[in-house]
Amino acid sequence: MKPNKDLPVSPDLREDKPEEACGVFGVYAPGEDVSRLTYFGLHALQHRGQESAGIAVGDGSSVLAIKDMGLVTQVFDENALSALTGFVAIGHTRYSATGGSGGHTAWEAAEPHLSTITDEIIALAHNGSLINSVDLRRRLVELGVTFRSSADSEVAAKLIGYFTQESHHMREGIRRSMELIEGAYAMVLITQDALYAFRDPCGIRPLVIGRLPEQRGWVVASETCGLDIVGAEYYRDVEPGEVIRIKGTGDDGLIIEQAVPQQKHALCIFEYVYFARPDSNIDGMNVYHSRDAMGRQLAIEAPADADAVIGVPDSGVPSAIGYAGQSGIPYLEGIVKNRYVGRTFIQPTQALRERGVRLKLNPLSFSIAGKRLVVVDDSIVRGTTSQQLIAMLRDAGASEIHVRIVSPPVSWPCFYGIDTNSQDELISATKSVEEICEFLGADSLAYISEEGLLSCMKGNHNSYCTSCFSGSYPVKLTEKQQQDSFRSDMVPTWWPQESQGMASLF
Ligand code: SF4
Repeated sequence: MKPNKDLPVSPDLREDKPEEACGVFGVYAPGEDVSRLTYFGLHALQHRGQESAGIAVGDGSSVLAIKDMGLVTQVFDENALSALTGFVAIGHTRYSATGGSGGHTAWEAAEPHLSTITDEIIALAHNGSLINSVDLRRRLVELGVTFRSSADSEVAAKLIGYFTQESHHMREGIRRSMELIEGAYAMVLITQDALYAFRDPCGIRPLVIGRLPEQRGWVVASETCGLDIVGAEYYRDVEPGEVIRIKGTGDDGLIIEQAVPQQKHALCIFEYVYFARPDSNIDGMNVYHSRDAMGRQLAIEAPADADAVIGVPDSGVPSAIGYAGQSGIPYLEGIVKNRYVGRTFIQPTQALRERGVRLKLNPLSFSIAGKRLVVVDDSIVRGTTSQQLIAMLRDAGASEIHVRIVSPPVSWPCFYGIDTNSQDELISATKSVEEICEFLGADSLAYISEEGLLSCMKGNHNSYCTSCFSGSYPVKLTEKQQQDSFRSDMVPTWWPQESQGMASLF
């Protein structure tokens, strides 16, 4: 399909939040309409990325892909899905802040990425970000490999192709690539007759396996909501460092291999705070329950004298309900969200732009007028949306506004697939809590503590990435990333991890 709308989404309509990089989905199910299953799987994962969508299907002899800019419903219609016939498929929804990176266009960066290994076509889709993709790409170019873009997914596909040609074995090609790739990744890949899925050794981005009823096939997805929508039952997570191959619908159709040793786990805690859908379970914990628990913990740590608690939709709402339940202050619906306006390619007029957050959020004035409010939100990144929101709530008649945030201050950038690349963009990197409160125009502002947030998590509290609060990173950055991204007076630290580096390109 030809690129037809290569426009980035207007920055004015973007969420003032950490932005997720992607959702991935895969299915192996002979006899099923796999492109339609993938379409619905991507629908459930649409919240993870709205810039582009794509599906690739293998039919036993070849792989065909359709991808384009836009929402899943904008990219695919009956005709497009009818053209994608086969029994194994992957799909991808992409978010990008800049319409592409490294000079390639947004359309070229759309996934799945098609590549050839000898005579075989593969398609690969990726959620996350590779720390060393520039270095890997340069080394592959030196070996004569050609590239169409600098997208991480093309680097991964070409690297896997290089090692698969050497070893004549796809799983070995993936395994040796995983030994070299550094960063956060949950990837799905198809050949004409098999589905592969693999996850980085720290497990930073989530990936789950599900099973269709009556052994009709296997499904993989970024979140369990992608399994639920197609009627698949959760089977297990793809564990950090694992590669799975699916080439059959029975038990023996699934092969699981620990491709590289697990490192200290570092699942992104923001999956629970903001990214994931509340009906998803990640690593055995329900996202809604975790948000409710965060709200309760926040009420203990940062009480407020108020008449009502409201949540900023969508992810702030379960935490607001938790805060209300713990504090005894009544919960109110105070803000209505227009879910679709921020996901349009149509540029707003200047007059509409000036309406700012009102394009997306509208207060229920009759509900909040005259009340002292606790306003619960998931995070503050740049602070601009929160500032407008508070002004809007005051216009609607709120007499006091006490902002409560269920993540600690985001003072450090993320390099693992989330769009906060520099400390200059982060209000908490440059202002104190008091200064931010003044900037927002709130009567009070308080954040949950990192310990408090982790106390709401299941299992080992050391197994989550919290780098954007702590500056302690699970995967070491390149010198250039370190130079470009941090203020000179803020020095990041690195988790001690086993060094890998067993594979060599030469
Ligand atoms: S730094 Fe870690 S916790 Fe923060 S958004 Fe990135 S992966 Fe998630």
